[in-house]
Amino acid sequence: MLYTQGAMSETVIPLKAIAKHVLPRESRIVLRKAYYFGTRHTCTVCGSRVRKYYPSGFDLPVLRELDVIGGEYRLDDTCPVCWSHCRTRLVRAYLEREVRLGSRPMSVLHFAPEAGIAEFVRAAPGVTYDPVDLDPSRYVQVPGTRRADVTAIDRPNDSYDLVICNHVLEHVPDDGLAMREILRVLKPGVGMAMLQVPLSARLDRTIEDPSVSDVAERERRFGQFDHIRLYGADYTDRLASAGFTVDVVDPPVAWGQAVVDELGLNPREQVIAGRKPATGADTPDL
Ligand SMILES: [Zn+2]
Repeated sequence: MLYTQGAMSETVIPLKAIAKHVLPRESRIVLRKAYYFGTRHTCTVCGSRVRKYYPSGFDLPVLRELDVIGGEYRLDDTCPVCWSHCRTRLVRAYLEREVRLGSRPMSVLHFAPEAGIAEFVRAAPGVTYDPVDLDPSRYVQVPGTRRADVTAIDRPNDSYDLVICNHVLEHVPDDGLAMREILRVLKPGVGMAMLQVPLSARLDRTIEDPSVSDVAERERRFGQFDHIRLYGADYTDRLASAGFTVDVVDPPVAWGQAVVDELGLNPREQVIAGRKPATGADTPDL
């Protein structure tokens, strides 16, 4: 939901601000590709060859003390052309390697649609793409993004083959309702959802407090100004309670360490996906 962009140099910030107002997005991308061109990294989301990546994440005590995976500070991580980082690259790799997007017709619902992922999904053969967010004005770079509430999805039961909900649930006050809604709109037997969240390796139980509205307090307790919880080892239990069959993929094991290194993934971030059972697990009444 939040793009954590690395700090730009003092020289680049005013130029970037000016360019954003006078140049179309495509032209800005061309300029960034030229400015950052190099051989150190090849971004697997936008294909750019760049001389540097920027940092991602936050360097906060709570993230270090609770060993949070998927929100921690990473020095060399954010593509300066498309702003994707390891979390974006993980989604892209999973869609290619596990979902095999494009191999069959699929309807895809994408919450908080990251631009690089949106372009990849939209271009896949046979895909019907539906990008949504609670505040679509934040996603003008993804054409067609419409308003939708993850706790009240305005689509019939059994509508989608795939839901991408990447680092969203930690923002949602009633995450159980959101999980049940995502399950409801998935097709039974074939439907699945990517449900990545920041995950503490030290918490057995999720800590949460939706009543906290002070941004500094949210940052202190949950690791980001707009998070209202920090998930622990019970996250997969929560998904199972909502009705999902939980499927965890550990990239170094499933794809190999060489692939993890080549793609610039966070070796500790697993993919947590939920599948909608074929029968016998009726969609909860909402
Ligand atoms: Zn990129």
